[in-house]
Amino acid sequence: MEVLLANPRGFCAGVDRAIEIVERALELFGAPVYVRNEVVHNRFVVDRLIAMGAVFVKDLDEVPDHSTVIFSAHGVSRAVREQGQDRGLKVLDATCPLVTKIHREVARYCRKGKDVVLIGHAGHPEVEGTLGQWSRDSATGNEIYLVQSMSEVAHLQINQPDNLAYVTQTTLSVDETRDMIDALKERFPAISGPRREDICYATQNRQDAVKSMARDVDLILVVGSANSSNSNQLRETAEKEGVRSFLIDGADDIDPEWLQEVDHVGVTAGASAPEILVAGVIKHLQELGVLSVREMGGEAESMEFALPRELRIRTSA
Ligand code: SF4
Repeated sequence: MEVLLANPRGFCAGVDRAIEIVERALELFGAPVYVRNEVVHNRFVVDRLIAMGAVFVKDLDEVPDHSTVIFSAHGVSRAVREQGQDRGLKVLDATCPLVTKIHREVARYCRKGKDVVLIGHAGHPEVEGTLGQWSRDSATGNEIYLVQSMSEVAHLQINQPDNLAYVTQTTLSVDETRDMIDALKERFPAISGPRREDICYATQNRQDAVKSMARDVDLILVVGSANSSNSNQLRETAEKEGVRSFLIDGADDIDPEWLQEVDHVGVTAGASAPEILVAGVIKHLQELGVLSVREMGGEAESMEFALPRELRIRTSA
């Protein structure tokens, strides 16, 4: 058996930054540091930060007065941000800059009184945060609409079809989202949208890597947690390319049965899954009979995001 390692895989710039914000906050301010929601959707990462002194909460009401709280990479609504300010909490924002860009787009459309269609998954924290940027323009009575499927696009009823814009979640299937945008454009020809899709570079590159790997493998293992949207998309991308695929948190989840009659195993990792878990998977596969590991060529990534100003100043002081 041979393993093919997808490239790129694993951590993106937004996840790197979010984790570093928690680590630096713990260093500078000491434990506990509170984090609203999982800072990134990965069990291993969250458990490690808990061991270092981070406390994960669902709601700002759970954060004691005068504490430091970090908003996760997925972003928060305006209401949550205002609640943090009203409470006088020390807030550090780990929202990925590519999510913030979408928040700004929604706010700009609202200022123009436009209706907005958001393509995304209901209940995902990024979607909640993006929906929470919407505000009503008193002149137009504008609305925001969440759509999750082609069928929802087909049945969508819009108040202002000629004054309409769309945005998307960052971690969706590139192909499905393109189809949904095309369908929106067909139904609402006046709809406007971002110059480049809102799906982020990391999601796009990891899906492209899976597509190219799918030609050469019989099975694809995606390292990532079940609540990670981009990891789930990688598994679905593999299946759409006709390759059996499983989402695993780590080596312990591998069922040796999956490897029967398999010559080539593809391994990739979602944008929130650390390389240490990939290394554990490779090691376990070697114990199960893999003789060689080959890394695929792929899109080189050089994206980096700066830390919040406050952490930069304190770190350089
Ligand atoms: S997956 Fe994309 S949007 Fe999400 S944190 Fe990474 S770079 Fe940012």
